[in-house]
Amino acid sequence: MNEIRFHNTLGGKVEAFVPQKPAEVRMYTCGPTVYDYAHIGNFRTFVFQDILRRFLKLRGFKMKHVMNLTDVDDRIIANAAAAGVSIRDYTEKFAQAFFDDCKTLSIEAPEHWIRATDHIDDMVKLIERLQKKSFTYPGEGSIYYRIAKFPQYGKLSNIDVTGIQAGARVDNDRYEKESARDFALWKAPKSGEHFWDTPIGKGRPGWHIECSAMAMKYLGETLDIHTGGIDLAFPHHENEIAQSEAATGKPFARYWMHSEHLLVEGEKMSKSLGNFYTLRDLFAKGYKPSALRFALASVPYRKQLNFTFDGLQQAASSVERLRNFAARLAQGKFPAGNQKGMAARIGEAAEEFDAGLSDDLNTARALAAAFDLLRETNIAMDKDDFRQGDVPAVQEFLANFNRIFAVMDDNDDERLRALGFGPKESGPADAEIEKLIADRQSARQRRDFAASDRIRKELADRGILIEDSKDGSVRWKRK
Ligand code: AMP
Ligand code: ZN
Repeated sequence: MNEIRFHNTLGGKVEAFVPQKPAEVRMYTCGPTVYDYAHIGNFRTFVFQDILRRFLKLRGFKMKHVMNLTDVDDRIIANAAAAGVSIRDYTEKFAQAFFDDCKTLSIEAPEHWIRATDHIDDMVKLIERLQKKSFTYPGEGSIYYRIAKFPQYGKLSNIDVTGIQAGARVDNDRYEKESARDFALWKAPKSGEHFWDTPIGKGRPGWHIECSAMAMKYLGETLDIHTGGIDLAFPHHENEIAQSEAATGKPFARYWMHSEHLLVEGEKMSKSLGNFYTLRDLFAKGYKPSALRFALASVPYRKQLNFTFDGLQQAASSVERLRNFAARLAQGKFPAGNQKGMAARIGEAAEEFDAGLSDDLNTARALAAAFDLLRETNIAMDKDDFRQGDVPAVQEFLANFNRIFAVMDDNDDERLRALGFGPKESGPADAEIEKLIADRQSARQRRDFAASDRIRKELADRGILIEDSKDGSVRWKRK
């Protein structure tokens, strides 16, 4: 087995991964802020974290993995107040949707799902510890962290702290990138908004203290891995380090792993650009959960992922190829015995699959190992060069593959139905129609007219009329 190597944002290098206890990994991931539905960018990060945990499990580690739901932050408190409901009532719908979305994308549940609102006491206690060590100062009912007293501030994100001015402070948790400023650990109540009455005063926690307090409560004062999207490195994770290490005097997390962002058609996703998608938006267009998971997982996490509908369609075809291959293996009747060299070839593919994932979770390399084996095996089957005795070893390779990528099981329709996306009365979704038309076009190019007629009939039976135009393109409409 290969040495596991991960890129550590702290230090900026790829390093051998060795957890504190030999067989256990203590990992914290910043979960979603449940003020809205999570979008596909968020799920890029959550799928990366899922692949990370699945890989560590496959390599025999017992996971102690905590993911929080940020259910207190400025936006949630303001939105709940505006809607005249409690924080729990406001966030519950989005928390539930998040759990459902994770299930739909085969994201495994961590050992602990926790909510910030259930841990206010732990946050207050941590702030008290920081108060005792003079890392804090009060201001207009809030409590701030004194960055100047923590000389290592900036070590994660390499932010320049020379410009820090005494008393320059910020109340907003999600501030812009240029400056490090004293941040609020505890925020004074605002009129009409929810607050907690605690020994350190009335108010609510800042976002950063939430994660420090919850991570250390469940995982101890030094974690093995802390992860999130790259936007969290500064200020969120930098502030978590400042809070935790000032309180304990120990390193807070040994490996910091951050995923790069997802872009849509090369642009930052934003509601105003009209390129903003939740999972449900894509399912409503007829795309399948397995295709989305594959598309999100296929780009190594430290590369930006450019999401396109073409890419999603290709991901769907890749999943189909994998499933067809598994079916061919299961159903095929091959001559008895073993093919010379096949066992070694499968072993080589398994080794390359592990080498790819061990290499800072290089999913593209791991996928290439699987698809190379698939292509070669399909060719061997076509030429009658494949033997029944080799079936179990290929199946075992696929089972291992699926422990990480989790796209082999044909459960998309069932999952979509569970989310309320039943088959539509109006017939198949546009994407499905376009896929069938493309299949028909390639059948025609192969001069396989039986197949092309079959597809035309299938479409007609499902209420879709197609019309071939002179220039070779195809138009379609619903009957
Ligand atoms: P939030 O709900 O904003 O706290 O974000 C949840 C997770 O999604 C965090 O780890 C973010 O870093 C991550 N994230 C946010 N936007 C993107 C994006 N466009 N691509 C990848 N990850 C993202
Ligand atoms: Zn966090």
